[in-house]
Amino acid sequence: MTAAARPPAGDCPVDDAWLTALMADLFPLSRSITGDGTRATLARVRREIALTVHEVPTGTSVLDWSVPEEWNLRRARLIAPDGSVAVDTADSNLHVVGYSTPVRGEYALVDLLPRLHSLPSHPELVPYRTSYHVRDWGFCLSQQTRAALLPGRYGVEIDTSLAPGSLSYGELLVPGRVRDEVLITTHICHPSLANDNLTGIAAATVLARWAVRESHRHTYRFLFLPATIGAVTWLARNQDATAHVRYGLVLTGLGDPAPLTYKSSRRGNTAMDRLMSHLVTHSGGTTKDWYPYGYDERQFCSPGFDLPVGRLSRAMHGTYPQYHTSADDLSFVSGGQVRAAVAIVLAAFDAIESGLVPRSLAPYGEPQLGRRGLFRGLGGTLEKTSSEYALLWLLSLADGEHDLVAVAERSGLTLREVMTAAEALRAAGLLA
Ligand code: ZN
Repeated sequence: MTAAARPPAGDCPVDDAWLTALMADLFPLSRSITGDGTRATLARVRREIALTVHEVPTGTSVLDWSVPEEWNLRRARLIAPDGSVAVDTADSNLHVVGYSTPVRGEYALVDLLPRLHSLPSHPELVPYRTSYHVRDWGFCLSQQTRAALLPGRYGVEIDTSLAPGSLSYGELLVPGRVRDEVLITTHICHPSLANDNLTGIAAATVLARWAVRESHRHTYRFLFLPATIGAVTWLARNQDATAHVRYGLVLTGLGDPAPLTYKSSRRGNTAMDRLMSHLVTHSGGTTKDWYPYGYDERQFCSPGFDLPVGRLSRAMHGTYPQYHTSADDLSFVSGGQVRAAVAIVLAAFDAIESGLVPRSLAPYGEPQLGRRGLFRGLGGTLEKTSSEYALLWLLSLADGEHDLVAVAERSGLTLREVMTAAEALRAAGLLA
């Protein structure tokens, strides 16, 4: 990311200390797609924004799925033949396979090995594994720990519960003057992993605070969902509301060192796609076309809903060695990276709020700008970087078809310069 192109960090309304404190509080919680760790996560976010927490009972039909049994982890340990503790979730909640069934017993090492998950390519890291939909159990440990296990009989103590309960998700709807909606979502189901996705939770929380405090024309909705099943559950319960979504973003993986990546919606040519592609590219980041794997954009963009929802990340999931391992900890993420990502989304909000498609109210000939104090009236050449030049570009393209991004791209001006010109022309009664 080029330093010159990045929006000033001051555009993000919280500082590093605020983000660090939030993520440090959330990091140790044993999140999953259901359970008390996820509730505790929503409760912590609720200290910052007035989330409504929904509980949807186990067995509820949601689209083609069913809300699963609720899983809770108290502790899981693997006890070596000499009585020492080889693996313990008290050290890291990554050490047990998510949704492991309760187990208490003794197993020979040779029988345990298929249930011990490690990463031979990164022998010091503990992988993150789950088995939501197939009843199973297992431990995750470093290859180094696994290789040091001596033959013999091991004690397995997996103190979990898997029983009827509910799926929890958080929602905040901030009404605007119009019902047209901006939808921001993030997933909340990963245990002690920082980039994926405490950074998404933190960014969505900051953006929600902005929506609550600032006056805005659009309605803003923020969803904190367990991945996949949470998005499916929300969509099943809110099919009518989806008709109002005009712009949407899935936020995940925003704190790693890589430049930003915008993954377009399935449609690929929505106003959000154009806006985010422009902002992210101009911040030194890259854009990616739609592909049917990733996070909850898969649900929101499924053909029946077909929502204009893209995804903002930095390094794409699965492409960096820390992904879904114990190395995705708080030291891997930086508050500055999260703040820069928030600043880009706020710039998008700014453009959405200012009205993306301007229309000239004086389209017959050029309106006389000097009379309105918008043109200095000096003859001769006009600097291409001057504010007057931006006014002329905007007036010449404000036909109700070119959006602000098109004006910026055709003129070579920044989106901010085009928006400043639009505000000036609107104030002068020249632009709708
Ligand atoms: Zn993930």
